[in-house]
Amino acid sequence: MNHEMYMDAAIEEAKKAAAIGEVPIGAVLVYDNKIIARAFNDRETSQNPLHHAELMVIEQASQLLGKWRLTDCTLYVTLEPCPMCAGAIIQSRVDKLVFGAHDPKAGCVGSLMDLPRDSRFNHAPEVITGIRNEVCSELLTTFFRSLRERNKARKKAMKMIEQENTTCNK
Ligand SMILES: [Zn+2]
Repeated sequence: MNHEMYMDAAIEEAKKAAAIGEVPIGAVLVYDNKIIARAFNDRETSQNPLHHAELMVIEQASQLLGKWRLTDCTLYVTLEPCPMCAGAIIQSRVDKLVFGAHDPKAGCVGSLMDLPRDSRFNHAPEVITGIRNEVCSELLTTFFRSLRERNKARKKAMKMIEQENTTCNK
């Protein structure tokens, strides 16, 4: 199985998220060597806290395969899953989870916790990490940097407008 090739497809999804101003996280789900589901985080657009890329590919794949048990499936995601998604990955019984960058702030597959590899659960997907790690984290770094710059520029512009308005009102 070519992990890099499938991760590249997840990266393409993440880029779509960035293009519409969403945090760039993308996922694909592979069954029988084919990508059967793709999605990107669209929490802001949908205003839905459940719209993480992983949950959406799990939902798409279950509908397509007509079953909730996604055995023989591999989930690729650009960022280490959060607790909600790590839980869904266990619940959906995916065989393998492959992720790119670690998320030290919210990741629950090794960073804050390690849910899929906790043997107390009845299912433990195999975990592979670090595939295209640099590309995946660079996407996020670039996104947050430009977000900060935009916010800074907006604050500066608002201050200028405020000052102008105060002068006009005098
Ligand atoms: Zn998540």
